[in-house]
Amino acid sequence: MRIGIPSTLAYYEYFPFWEVFFQELGFEVVSSPTTTKAILDWGVQHTVSDACVPIKLVHGHVRALAEDNVDVIFLPRMVRVAPKETFCPKFLGLPDLIQASIEDLPPMLSPRIFLRYGRMSLFRICGQTAHSLGASPIKGLRACAKALDAWHVFLRSVRRGMTVAEALGIRQRMKNTVQGPRLALLGYPYLINDPFVSANLLGLLEERGVQVLTAEMAPPGALKRLSRQMPKNLFWHYSNRVVWAAMYYLDKGMVDGVIHVTAFGCGPDAMVSKLVELEAKGKVPFTTLSLDEHSGQEGIITRIDAFVDMLVRKKASA
Ligand code: SF4
Repeated sequence: MRIGIPSTLAYYEYFPFWEVFFQELGFEVVSSPTTTKAILDWGVQHTVSDACVPIKLVHGHVRALAEDNVDVIFLPRMVRVAPKETFCPKFLGLPDLIQASIEDLPPMLSPRIFLRYGRMSLFRICGQTAHSLGASPIKGLRACAKALDAWHVFLRSVRRGMTVAEALGIRQRMKNTVQGPRLALLGYPYLINDPFVSANLLGLLEERGVQVLTAEMAPPGALKRLSRQMPKNLFWHYSNRVVWAAMYYLDKGMVDGVIHVTAFGCGPDAMVSKLVELEAKGKVPFTTLSLDEHSGQEGIITRIDAFVDMLVRKKASA
């Protein structure tokens, strides 16, 4: 049996887990190809027009898997993986949205990921998922343990300074001798690490000698401590990590500037952008890059050239 996983959204955080889980159960795992114009265009045409670009994109990726004749599409309903927060509402309703928008799909497997009791809940979900695919729940528990090991290897690579795209093998780091400014490039992993949607932002910054720190590289223990300093945290999983990472890098004085990458039409980002801007105010320069299906590389190059140039001059005159 071939299990198809769309390579967008939670893929950028959990693919190493689910890949090993299904392989341990004896299934072939197929991820959709990296984003292309055709995949994005298909998603744009088949989604409500006011959706954010990642939601349009996932429609195109699911379609690509269906065209690849996978037997099952795996699209978990991401609800909660940490206390007192949920995923953005568009994640919560995603399996329903996809099924309502795309006809003739293969069967969809969408376990509800709500980790009320942490690891225990995860093992229960894995046992049930294995059972729903005809494998024994015990086999599911063993596969879950192996998948957790693989996922921790992935997380360690990212915490040691790899971008998620590098840890997933989507791109390779260039050898660069230029030592430019250090930037916090903050935004959702499915935006920053998708070379097509972000117009290769990571590569463009690397070419300019910029050292990039992303939200996923920040140590989770430190982020947790910072979260307790907030009078109130946001409700949404990825949004919280962007705000906490901004606080972490700015408090430690680790960066010369901050770029917040946002998706046009993202509701949570209206708050995230303001909070990150306020954190950076009076400390380091801050700018926002808004991405949508029309984002061209030229516009992004102009913006980052101006921003990086300003940081270099500021550093030189300090
Ligand atoms: S957090 Fe924003 S960009 Fe991500 S799915 Fe929700 S609305 Fe879209």
